[in-house]
Amino acid sequence: VRVSDTQLYLDGVSVSFDGFRAINNLALMVAPGELRTIIGPNGAGKTTMMDIITGKTKPDAGEVLFAGRIDLTRLDEVAIANLGIGRKFQKPTVFENLTVFENFELALKSARGAWKTLLGRLNSEALDRIAWALDTVGLETKVEDIAGSLSHGQKQWLEIGMLLVQDTQLILLDEPVAGMTDAETKQTAELILTLKGERTLVVVEHDMEFVRDLGAKVTVLHEGSVLSEGTVDHVQNDPRVIEVYLGR
Ligand code: ADP
Repeated sequence: VRVSDTQLYLDGVSVSFDGFRAINNLALMVAPGELRTIIGPNGAGKTTMMDIITGKTKPDAGEVLFAGRIDLTRLDEVAIANLGIGRKFQKPTVFENLTVFENFELALKSARGAWKTLLGRLNSEALDRIAWALDTVGLETKVEDIAGSLSHGQKQWLEIGMLLVQDTQLILLDEPVAGMTDAETKQTAELILTLKGERTLVVVEHDMEFVRDLGAKVTVLHEGSVLSEGTVDHVQNDPRVIEVYLGR
């Protein structure tokens, strides 16, 4: 794989907090349109890795490239978001007092580039984009509902929809199915699989059944580095992974 063909490229990335190496010579290559799942025990460095990609934490060493060429280590969080890199945290953070539609509207208005000029009325292109996002995340019948009245799962989908209207190309999801019912978890897997190919997705998740349903390549982090990588079956049968999860 050539670096120029990657959507996300990390190499030799390290970061220490008070002398403790949370990320240690980390390498990761994600192709455009790929869905990648990241797993690893608590403290493995998953959150810190996401923080490095979004510019919240700056690495002490290493390369972090977007679209094979843009050096993310030199950009601040706002500039990185404006490139089309968006993160959804574990807890839903929608505007509870606004309707689903108004949430999308705000997402559009705060988005990068041309959408920034949409401070007044939404044009038909913007409405089309919202309609498409509503349909994609399965909230088309909830458009006038107050976001606070949605189920936990629906709020999570709304937030993913907000990233979609913002034209986010690299979507980072932190434990998207935590707290969801089984049915919501299945629907979330379907949603993510619909987005695969269209957007690049990096999903940190603990729920192994969900990880299996996604059927994507899995990267296992441990002590800030890649311990194992491959299919779900490959990593689950990797003796090093078994030792890290069960051998303590
Ligand atoms: P994970 O998300 O996989 O559970 P984290 O990235 O949160 O792992 O943490 C990796 C390690 O780095 C942990 O040992 C954690 O305590 C440490 N760490 C993370 N952020 C900080 C920080 N801001 N200051 C000090 N230590 C931190």
